[in-house]
Amino acid sequence: MKIAVLPGDGIGPEIVAQATKVLEALRSDGLKIEMEHGHIGGAGYDAAKDPLPEATLKLSKEADAVLLGAVGGYQYDNLPRPMRPEQGLLRIRKGLGLFANLRPAMVYPELVNASTLRSDIVSGLDIMILRELTGDIYFGQPRGIRTLENGERQGFDTMHYSESEIRRVAHVGFQIAMKRNKKLCSVDKANVLDTSMFWREIVSEVAKEYPQVVTSHMYVDNAAMQLVRAPKQFDVILTGNIFGDILSDEASMLTGSIGMLPSASLDANNKGLYEPCHGSAPDIAGKDLANPLATILSVAMMMYYTFGRADIAQRIEGAVRKVLQQGLRTGDIYEEGKQKVGCAAMGDAVVKAL
Ligand code: NAD
Repeated sequence: MKIAVLPGDGIGPEIVAQATKVLEALRSDGLKIEMEHGHIGGAGYDAAKDPLPEATLKLSKEADAVLLGAVGGYQYDNLPRPMRPEQGLLRIRKGLGLFANLRPAMVYPELVNASTLRSDIVSGLDIMILRELTGDIYFGQPRGIRTLENGERQGFDTMHYSESEIRRVAHVGFQIAMKRNKKLCSVDKANVLDTSMFWREIVSEVAKEYPQVVTSHMYVDNAAMQLVRAPKQFDVILTGNIFGDILSDEASMLTGSIGMLPSASLDANNKGLYEPCHGSAPDIAGKDLANPLATILSVAMMMYYTFGRADIAQRIEGAVRKVLQQGLRTGDIYEEGKQKVGCAAMGDAVVKAL
């Protein structure tokens, strides 16, 4: 298992250090794990004046999987756009061909009170949001700001999806649904957008290859509403880049704890980039306050999706459950009566439970 480790900025190095502790523990158990570190984001800019230095892309291409912390920091906010930390993230996704972004939103019984929604609405919640990651209006050309004939300025972007882009992500969605509760809801805006009408047509075609999966279609505005009204109706949600960006953030907040949510971004061969859903949290960086569990759970996803080791993924998830049952909490998930711990202590506890 060859893993490129890219801690990035802010809390990135702290949380990734806890995840690598877990990997080291697995290695001392006999797994053949190789790790090599690289710079990305602001750290890439500091090291090589590039948010995705060539050496980092090369290292990531040669690895089977990439473990990433987070990027971004106030000190980089005024850099020209190509030098900004988030460009490193966009470029590594593109460079590795990572078109399928998986974001589970699940509520741990121990943390059911962390949600802002009533516990009966969210307890037992377990949704997988699959967002297409390399197409759609975020990458469509032409785009820009232009001056119209009447002299007024206008901003514009272009939304498009090609058949092959929709097909390949739809297949990933149905394959994931097959391993879960065999329900897939494709989300679009087919009542207004031609791109979405086409999306729906292709997803419906792919659905015929998976007759065991119950497929449904929903408009994105309704999906946004249903996610807070009755989120447990969903199993896998399949959607495009912009809708997925918004819905996955909404779904993650159903769980109430951004520090708990992992993610995976996969290519056509299950090579993947694994990272927590949250950002670099500069407000708490360097203070040993960050919750490392999202990053540790990202390692569990890596074991499952890239290395096909469901057994190890379950072991890591089990260890996380155990520390929660023991009452350990970082500040973001703390409640009265529990034991508040720092980032490093949480990492140590997971390793011990493992
Ligand atoms: P953020 O996710 O970094 O932080 C939002 C809030 O959640 C903050 O109060 C933070 O302290 C808290 N938080 C986040 N992760 C936490 C953790 N593991 N444990 C405890 N608390 C945690 O989002 P933001 O403040 O909007 O952005 C900060 C920086 O991160 C910006 O530069 C932004 O561009 C970047 N960002 C990066 C990514 C990424 O690397 N994938 C994603 C989102 C934002």
